[in-house]
Amino acid sequence: MKNFKNKTGLSTYITALKANGSSIGFVPTMGALHEGHLSLVNRVLSENDFAVVSIFVNPTQFDNQDDLVKYPRTIDADIALLKTVSDTKVIVYAPSVEDIYADNIQSQAFSFDGLEHEMEGAFRKGHFDGVGTIVKRLFEIVKPDTAYFGEKDFQQLQIIRKLVELHNLPLEIIGCPIYRAKDGLAMSSRNARLTQDHRVAAPFIYKTLNTAKEMFGTKSAKVVTEWVTKQFEKQPLLELEYIIIADIATLKPVYRKSTNKTYRAFIAVYAGDIRLIDNIALN
Ligand code: AMP
Repeated sequence: MKNFKNKTGLSTYITALKANGSSIGFVPTMGALHEGHLSLVNRVLSENDFAVVSIFVNPTQFDNQDDLVKYPRTIDADIALLKTVSDTKVIVYAPSVEDIYADNIQSQAFSFDGLEHEMEGAFRKGHFDGVGTIVKRLFEIVKPDTAYFGEKDFQQLQIIRKLVELHNLPLEIIGCPIYRAKDGLAMSSRNARLTQDHRVAAPFIYKTLNTAKEMFGTKSAKVVTEWVTKQFEKQPLLELEYIIIADIATLKPVYRKSTNKTYRAFIAVYAGDIRLIDNIALN
């Protein structure tokens, strides 16, 4: 498997592939790969000749230093997992912080038409400036035809679409469905850090989102979110940070339902020290 640690080597290799007419799909990741990531890589290879997978824990998108330090780093296992998808069609880019940022580990400031101020943007200061900075830089290095992002991070997906639109970047963005464990918990690199008790408690998040979806057919967003809040008050191991029902175009909370808009419920929950996010389409 081709595994590049610096951008020059990667860039030369990709330029040669593209000169031969090959299409390149890209999956940016922070590593600690799981089946959710692999579902994106498989999707890339069903629609492109090659999949570039970047593995980089981006320091500028963490508002919490402890989360950055403790973020799992499992590069050997990641490579082994990617080899199970394809040894020849998957290309890994696992750069050092210096390769990306040189000696200036800082985010650029972005405006994403207000999408950056909602939900994760409100609760994780500077997060989307960090995401915008790394993703734009990676797009410039990899120059993919298409990049694939999970709906697991739905706000991020919408922000990347906005980044591409506002900066006229020459690629297409594809959103991919949330891949879940059998018990419904959305796969996440952070799940590996859950205690056994928290892991057992965590599927309650998706179960509650499903009931919220059913309720939203007949009840207002306010009634549904208040109901969800009450359910979490009865869960000693799970602490609700937010439950928001939002219009997917603006990500602003809905106060009055409209039949021509599309809504999702977004949730963030602490299971002990571990912050989990999830979301569900409502209509
Ligand atoms: P991360 O490594 O967490 O930054 O995720 C890298 C990419 O994989 C992002 O586009 C995520 O949305 C996506 N992803 C992570 N977990 C899942 C999942 N359970 N299902 C689908 N996509 C996912």
